[in-house]
Amino acid sequence: MKATKTIISTLRDAPNDAVISSHQLMMRTGMLRKLGNGLYSYMPLGLRSLRKVENIIREELDAAGLLEMKPTVVVPGDIWRESGRWDKMSGEMLTAQNRAGQDMVVSPTAEEAFTVLIREGLSSYKQLPVIVYQINTKYRDEIRPRYGVMRGREFTMMDAYSFDADQKSLDESYEKCAAAYRRIFKRMGLSTISVKADTGAMGGSGSEEFMVESEVGDDTLILCPNCSYAANVEKAACRPDEALDKDGKPQVPATEQISKVDCPGVETIAAMETFFKMPATQFIKVLIYKVYNSTLDFTDAPGGKSFRREEENTAAPYYPESFIAVAIRGDLDVNETKLAAVLKASGVELAEQEDVIKYSGAPHGFVGPVGLTKVPLLADESVMVSRGDGTFDVKLHDTVTGGGTKDIDNMHVEPGRDFVPFITADVRVVKPGDKCPDCGGTFYMKKGNELGHIFKLGDKYTKSMNVTYLDVNGKPVTPIMGCYGIGVDRTLASIIEEHHDEKGIIWTMSTAPYQVVIVPVKYDGTMKEAADKLYDELTKEGIEVLLDDRNERPGVKFNDADLIGFPIRIVVGEKNLPNVEIKLRKEADARLVPLADAAKETAAVVRAELAELSK
Ligand code: ATP
Ligand code: MG
Repeated sequence: MKATKTIISTLRDAPNDAVISSHQLMMRTGMLRKLGNGLYSYMPLGLRSLRKVENIIREELDAAGLLEMKPTVVVPGDIWRESGRWDKMSGEMLTAQNRAGQDMVVSPTAEEAFTVLIREGLSSYKQLPVIVYQINTKYRDEIRPRYGVMRGREFTMMDAYSFDADQKSLDESYEKCAAAYRRIFKRMGLSTISVKADTGAMGGSGSEEFMVESEVGDDTLILCPNCSYAANVEKAACRPDEALDKDGKPQVPATEQISKVDCPGVETIAAMETFFKMPATQFIKVLIYKVYNSTLDFTDAPGGKSFRREEENTAAPYYPESFIAVAIRGDLDVNETKLAAVLKASGVELAEQEDVIKYSGAPHGFVGPVGLTKVPLLADESVMVSRGDGTFDVKLHDTVTGGGTKDIDNMHVEPGRDFVPFITADVRVVKPGDKCPDCGGTFYMKKGNELGHIFKLGDKYTKSMNVTYLDVNGKPVTPIMGCYGIGVDRTLASIIEEHHDEKGIIWTMSTAPYQVVIVPVKYDGTMKEAADKLYDELTKEGIEVLLDDRNERPGVKFNDADLIGFPIRIVVGEKNLPNVEIKLRKEADARLVPLADAAKETAAVVRAELAELSK
């Protein structure tokens, strides 16, 4: 391609709303132009890189045996009613009515569409497993689109869906996609961290996120320096640790009995630290949570019989609404995602003050673990760990807790002696410095951005949308699904985040809009002849070349080449001929090569780098 025949229009400055490098560079190189908030359009140069990313994804998924399809982007609202997600998704979903008054949806994701498409024609177990995918437009009415295409409203996503006869087959489909993901990101030159997105409590590894490190990342990752443990902070687990007293020494079990202390207004942990002159690590705070749809059995727990238990017309009995008291060390916070998982619940939220008083006898701030009779108590493992035989490994001693009455605290409370929990579990928010559950290593933290996600869905959609196949015995069975997504634009932006310097982008060979740029100092006379010859030879070698034939000053052309970030630059200058200068964007030095050898040498570099990335 010649520069004068395509659209090359670089900008000296990025627009004010571009605050991260990838967004700034995508705008400055002219790859991208903005049509509206969260609506970015790819110009010819940008589209070439986007297509490269798409094609790497496509090639690797095809090689893994996935089948590409192309559903429509606009789908009937009725399929969202069928799955039961119409109301839940209404905020993010862009909908419109057609002239006949039917609801239409611009797809924000496509579980429903693929379920409908696979349901039709599925009859026998012999047709399973099948994994289908699309690389297609999505629209999500994001509240706060930001960072350019990192979080746009319209974007391109690869989304795949597996349909399997049983759990073992789903596990295989899931592993197949995980392996393809690793090859995909490696080929693009991206360093991804794959993090567990499930908790031990839920069992198995049902979900994994592929993250890139990023200062502006929306996710917080907890990582172990000694082993491969990596998890989103939303789900990270940790090994219980021994709390220390104010002198940094192990706490000693209480010898004295509980004594009540008047402490009006001392409601927060900070106020307690001042009042008792003790560290937060020696307090137990107790929070009352409202729990939705728990399938745990609370029948024998304090207060358990007062919760309504749904037993009819349901696979497993559950409590539509119940309450639980959570005891945790004073300096820690409860992770509600982990708590919900432990309780096998669809969600939890802090109880309203009147329920706190109803179940614990005290208002928030004075709830204690001692003498709770109306609500089950869950102790975080920072307080005590059940040994499973009715005894406990106690982690906190001689503690101060809420007294169960307004403005009263209890001193010398000893876990195990003064209260026993209904269950113990790890429900704390994990922080850097906490210990790895697998190897005991000390966690550190990074900010990250999610590029892709793989997830075992189970029968959520196939059940609600009535998908069945006939098994070996001719009996109808519901297949189970997995879903797998990669944000194509976000991946492209992340390549720029990882590969750039103060001059501009440094494309990896597999994702560059053109692998080589030829810059004649002046596109005229012998320089023009040499540049044209090189261009023809490289093109014949199958290399993607941009010839900068613009009538611009050499400095402008060099700056643009660096800004756009072509991996290889060949400068054709009169004083160097019959040699030309070859420079890799990622290296500082150029070297002179005879014009006659330049194409072969350049092609070899391109091939070697592509091969390295594909290894
Ligand atoms: P996030 O937590 O970032 O909103 P999500 O959980 O909504 O992500 P998924 O529904 O799992 O994302 O979508 C799959 C992938 O699509 C994400 O991993 C991400 O790379 C990409 N993606 C999601 N929303 C956007 C968006 N608004 N702009 C660009 N890419 C997106
Ligand atoms: Mg989202």
